[in-house]
Amino acid sequence: MSYDDQNIFAKILRRELPAAIVYEDERTAAFMDIMPRSPGHCLVIPKAHARNLLDCDEADLAACMAVVKKLSGAAMRAFGADGVTLLQANESAAGQEVFHLHFHIIPRHDGEKLKPPAGEMESPDVLMANADKIRAAME
Ligand code: 5GP
Repeated sequence: MSYDDQNIFAKILRRELPAAIVYEDERTAAFMDIMPRSPGHCLVIPKAHARNLLDCDEADLAACMAVVKKLSGAAMRAFGADGVTLLQANESAAGQEVFHLHFHIIPRHDGEKLKPPAGEMESPDVLMANADKIRAAME
């Protein structure tokens, strides 16, 4: 399985497609998921080419995980969440649809079920406002 640099997240990284960016550093980027499974659902990705966890350089993986931790706390604070679900799929059989490694951060509230994947597309204005909220909650 190889990396195809025409995938959607590679285009977001190259700024060929818009996204509500939450965070960016040398090795990683984070932005809001366009079809959120709860308000505040965002994605952390390495900047380096990696199809998924299986071909990711370990230093990039470590950098992603540090950001996943930071943004998990920030997203929980920003949305007054009671918990946070992390999801990460490898290959179609596992539910992967975009073939650039990504970690889902999904804030959760007691008693609230996750919306189904590939559901409603959120408006860019709401996604931008949610990205701002998470950024403001980062320490
Ligand atoms: P996967 O199923 O590969 O783990 O998750 C892919 C995720 O990418 C889905 O949650 C989907 O909503 C999200 N997604 C698909 N296309 C776009 C897009 O153009 N922009 C953003 N921000 N997210 C997208």
